[in-house]
Amino acid sequence: MKSFLPRILILLFTILMACKSVSQWEGQGPIQIIETTDKPIAIQTKQTFDAGDGVFFSNELEGARLNEVERLNDTLIQVSILPENQPINPSPWYGFKLWSEQAKEFWIQFSYGGIGFHRYFPKTSKDGVDFVNVDSANFFQPKTEERRPEMGFLKVKSSKDTLWIAAQDRIGTAHVQNWKEELLKKDFVSKIAIGESKQGRPLEVLKIGEADDRQMLMVISMQHPPELTGFLAMEAFVEELVKDSPEARKFREKYNLYVMPQMNPDGVANGHWRHNARGIDLNRDWVNFNQPETKALSDFMEQKVAESGGKFVFAADFHSTWEDIFYTNNEELEGNFPGLIPKVIKRSSKRIPDYIPNIRPNEGNQRSVTSNSYFFFVHQAESMTFEVGDNTPREVIQMKGQYLAQELMKILNKKKWK
Ligand SMILES: [Zn+2]
Repeated sequence: MKSFLPRILILLFTILMACKSVSQWEGQGPIQIIETTDKPIAIQTKQTFDAGDGVFFSNELEGARLNEVERLNDTLIQVSILPENQPINPSPWYGFKLWSEQAKEFWIQFSYGGIGFHRYFPKTSKDGVDFVNVDSANFFQPKTEERRPEMGFLKVKSSKDTLWIAAQDRIGTAHVQNWKEELLKKDFVSKIAIGESKQGRPLEVLKIGEADDRQMLMVISMQHPPELTGFLAMEAFVEELVKDSPEARKFREKYNLYVMPQMNPDGVANGHWRHNARGIDLNRDWVNFNQPETKALSDFMEQKVAESGGKFVFAADFHSTWEDIFYTNNEELEGNFPGLIPKVIKRSSKRIPDYIPNIRPNEGNQRSVTSNSYFFFVHQAESMTFEVGDNTPREVIQMKGQYLAQELMKILNKKKWK
């Protein structure tokens, strides 16, 4: 009887976990293989729109997305937000500014041409830099059966002073550039040019650490332009690894971390919903490498391995979606450090009160078209895609990024490599 007790406990625990996971979001289905050769995109015309009654809208800023403006009545103005091309994931990014000759109060109707639904809770800014969530009393979404409203309505007060409205609280590429410049002030951080995007923006990797390249890590984010919360988690993660803490110093002596914070600068600068300037979803191009961004990074990694004889032991790709979810590789497959990813996720999550991480290991054992799959199947790097919720509180994102880095360092610092 005695020997049955642990088994019963394990069974009860398994049932409990199974019940828990029922309430968790199941994440996206299997990823389809799609063609990744260039496709035309519609270029957004940069302009100021006269909405009548002395009210003006403009998309003349980096990161903007605003295609048409139409006054529907005295107090309702429709803004049309259209994608760069189709088919596309229906998650519209928007960003624009407005002002009026006299103080006005009116509603903005967000319309997505029947292609997208209203995904991002609006943020406003008075200087184009610091954005805050709008008051929820001023934002309304019609309820639909699928919880995917095709429109959103926002009440605004306009004046001579410009008001910025955007889908997330940072817009354009400047904030990423500033962050990189800040990191580059440290002796052990340097940047490596690995290529150029279609529109001539530099594709850059940061090197963090002073080790030989025997054991390396790779971190990327913003393959999909609107996915700011993923970027913020990546930022918190990297900032922990550059700290002047004993753990971080030790880590940097043993490992080099390579970071590509903005995989798709053209997409971000143009306010794209999903694709790069060649009209392609970069996270479907990690087998064919038709695109400059994926080609440059994979060439860089493969060259690093060839030059140093070293290997990538960890890789992470940060994204955003409905709620926090980790996509990991099939746990039966072994990379360069079996068990590393589940251990890091579980240990870091345990430190956050009442948080049970939603972890979705891949059930297949074949290589697919995503970065996560490339990192694992080509480099045997233990890898994950961390998708951060669009509305996860910023302080929780910070905590998650930080704890992931801390637990990762603890494990990697102890590891003896042959
Ligand atoms: Zn994404």
